[in-house]
Amino acid sequence: MQDVMLINYGFCTGCHSCEVSCRKEKGLPLDEWGIKVQQIGPEKLGGAWEFDYVPVPSRLCDLCSERRTAGSKALCELHCLANVIEVLPAEEAAKRMVELGSKTAVFVP
Ligand code: SF4
Ligand code: SF4
Repeated sequence: MQDVMLINYGFCTGCHSCEVSCRKEKGLPLDEWGIKVQQIGPEKLGGAWEFDYVPVPSRLCDLCSERRTAGSKALCELHCLANVIEVLPAEEAAKRMVELGSKTAVFVP
């Protein structure tokens, strides 16, 4: 079963802990990202201003395969205090998306 990253970005605070922890895990220089937080908006929707932070994994993300093979969580998942990130089998991610509703996305490496 293919594992994927479920991103429940409605709760993302834009704290950047995922970026920092990934950089440490992968030993990346400052101009490379395994995951990068993007800001969408602000834009006016139905009379109210809205914006979102969305963590977006890059081609450098391998879902922390080494850590997970050793029985640990992906490091960005571990450090995200808002529980935005979950690495799990695709079938479970699909069920979680239905439970969580809008503002979810899936990354398939
Ligand atoms: S995904 Fe989690 S760790 Fe990353 S910026 Fe959002 S809240 Fe912070
Ligand atoms: S799963 Fe691992 S490699 Fe992928 S973004 Fe998170 S910390 Fe980086």
